[in-house]
Amino acid sequence: MTTPLDPTVPAREQPDPGPSVANLETIVSLSKRRGFIYPSSEIYGGINAVWDYGPLGVELKNNVKRAWWRAMVQERDDIVGLDAGILMAPQVWVTSGHVASFSDPLVECQTCHRRYRLDELPGAEDLSQTELRDPDIVERRGLRCPVEAGQLSAPRRFNLMFKTYMGPVEEDAAVVYLRPETAQGSYVNFKNVQQSMRRKLPFGIAQVGKSFRNEISPGNFVFRMREFEQMEMQFFVRPDEAARHFDEWLPRRWDWYVALGANPARLRFREHAADELAHYAKKAIDIEYRFPFGWKELEGIHNRGDFDLGSHARASGENLEYFDPATEEHFVPFIVETAAGGDRAPFTFLIDAYREEEVRGEKRVVLGLHPELAPYKVAVLPLLKKRPEIVELAKRLRADLAKDVMAVYDDTAAIGKLYRRQDEIGTPWCVTVDVESLEDGAVTVRDRNSMAQERVPVEGVKRLILDRLAAAREG
Ligand code: ATP
Repeated sequence: MTTPLDPTVPAREQPDPGPSVANLETIVSLSKRRGFIYPSSEIYGGINAVWDYGPLGVELKNNVKRAWWRAMVQERDDIVGLDAGILMAPQVWVTSGHVASFSDPLVECQTCHRRYRLDELPGAEDLSQTELRDPDIVERRGLRCPVEAGQLSAPRRFNLMFKTYMGPVEEDAAVVYLRPETAQGSYVNFKNVQQSMRRKLPFGIAQVGKSFRNEISPGNFVFRMREFEQMEMQFFVRPDEAARHFDEWLPRRWDWYVALGANPARLRFREHAADELAHYAKKAIDIEYRFPFGWKELEGIHNRGDFDLGSHARASGENLEYFDPATEEHFVPFIVETAAGGDRAPFTFLIDAYREEEVRGEKRVVLGLHPELAPYKVAVLPLLKKRPEIVELAKRLRADLAKDVMAVYDDTAAIGKLYRRQDEIGTPWCVTVDVESLEDGAVTVRDRNSMAQERVPVEGVKRLILDRLAAAREG
């Protein structure tokens, strides 16, 4: 698979593929109706910017995280995993620069007191980072509250880190932060991992886990939440090889999304402008996705230079240099980071999987999810639930399949409706047990995409499903 878009072409010159089949409402309502994602604490009126993954959502999300882990850890001999704590020594966030500058520009309506992130206001989307820091920008641009048209305050910086208290007494000394990224856990463990795993450069540390940001204007479903998940990998390299590694990670990460079902026409690279780069970054390119609400970041790929290990070494007093036995040099490694979202990625796959078709005059909604991502790989359905032998055979088959894959049994409707239900949640294969099965020991396997049906001996069903899953994984 190749990357069709050249990362050096400015993003705005690339064609817009237009909206997806599924708009935001379609995905939000399907997610709720079919048990993928619910608003958090809904019976209490909900809590802004937190979402709960339902029975199918947790399967989808786990499958996405597992696919990432397979590509980033299991299949590579130069990357290892880590699961660092969400709470870290507060000094980590001082050294990383988060305490001083992990902030967004906040403006407030003087009339209704609603608060907005300046760069998300209508008419402010194109502001450069320099302009976003300009105290007169609201006036100069004539920006107004989008709801009340009221006057807006001058922007002030709002730190996005959540604070909490460690220990029984709420005192300043015990303030700790909920991590806003997983990356710092990998940096402070660089030496532990390198030494205990006897690693030579280049090597990477991968982490998947929760992060927290007190976003000023969360929204657009799971795109921007206050509690979310990240899939981040830090690749430690020789400084003179960082640019090459950076370039190599771009197509790899692009291809990962495409192989799992993202539509490449809805992806693009966007390089950060010089004034947009974080203070530590040498170069940053985002993989953006054309969400129903516009082009937005899906993943960031960053050349972070030696900022992270250099700063932690200086602040902690620990020597975080690497000794290269080949060249006999001591140096602080550079870091190339790939920072993806464990919520944005499944969201993207849901959007691209959704399609509506007309079959014999009826609407068929299909989630054409990659089989590896589908919550259930197979559904076992009895044609006649009144025949106990059919039900028994179907349940036995499901139990056997469930030892290897997520398999579900359903007899709560007629077969046509059962198929539609499985189509709508993305189950790639349905197995139907009918009267003939009792005589010939064979069942019908139906393919979600083609709706083709084939007769298969019961004892061959598991092999067939596992082979098709493996084939889908190979692409
Ligand atoms: P944005 O510009 O959208 O705020 P960011 O540049 O701050 O994102 P990073 O710090 O690079 O994001 O985080 C890496 C990834 O984590 C993002 O690409 C995204 O997929 C995910 N992510 C970051 N913030 C959130 C959030 N509030 N909700 C859901 N996912 C998030």
